[in-house]
Amino acid sequence: LFISFEGIDGSGKSTQARLLAETLRGEGHEVVLTREPGGSPGAEEIRRLVLEGDADRWSPETELLLFTAARRDHLERTIRPALARGALVICDRYVDSTRVYQGVTRGDLRAAVDALHALMIGQDPDLTLLIDIDPAEGLARARARAGGEQRFEDMGLAMQARMRDAFLDLAAAAPDRFRRIEGAGGTADVAGRVRAALS
Ligand code: C5P
Repeated sequence: LFISFEGIDGSGKSTQARLLAETLRGEGHEVVLTREPGGSPGAEEIRRLVLEGDADRWSPETELLLFTAARRDHLERTIRPALARGALVICDRYVDSTRVYQGVTRGDLRAAVDALHALMIGQDPDLTLLIDIDPAEGLARARARAGGEQRFEDMGLAMQARMRDAFLDLAAAAPDRFRRIEGAGGTADVAGRVRAALS
């Protein structure tokens, strides 16, 4: 079983992915907790190339190709081997983040994202948990955690709201794969909702 977590920055998805992994391990499952961009040594190197340094170092198109290359390596080295031996794979961000960030926010590349996904990736999650949070709350959490990191200072509320809407649109278009999880409230409350969504 392949589960991805998605949501805007500050939604709490990384915390929830980790808590779900702990819960499922406690229930006796082998769980591989991984993340994107990254998740394999090569993909983590690409993550550094893209996320560290100037925001305008790469064009949106080049960034999409780098993220796709990272995903391909992650799939080959981490995700497929884990699924093949029967492990549960929990991935913090996957192709839906690319659909939102490279498809809507950074560039108008949605058709290219889907074409590259079909051509070079092919693997979709069985289940995608969208941790949905009020954009203002997400931005406040992300800024507090990032401690003045420029990209969050530069990101306005309107952009955060656009990204949330883009995730909700993806969820509405693929209701069999997505579950929307209310992300407001305490960590344990949200974790309970996540576990319930799995059953
Ligand atoms: O989930 P995490 O905080 O590790 O993501 C790091 C950053 O990578 C996000 O804030 C987002 O700006 C960026 N990102 C991106 N395109 C993706 C995935 C993540 O620009 N496809």
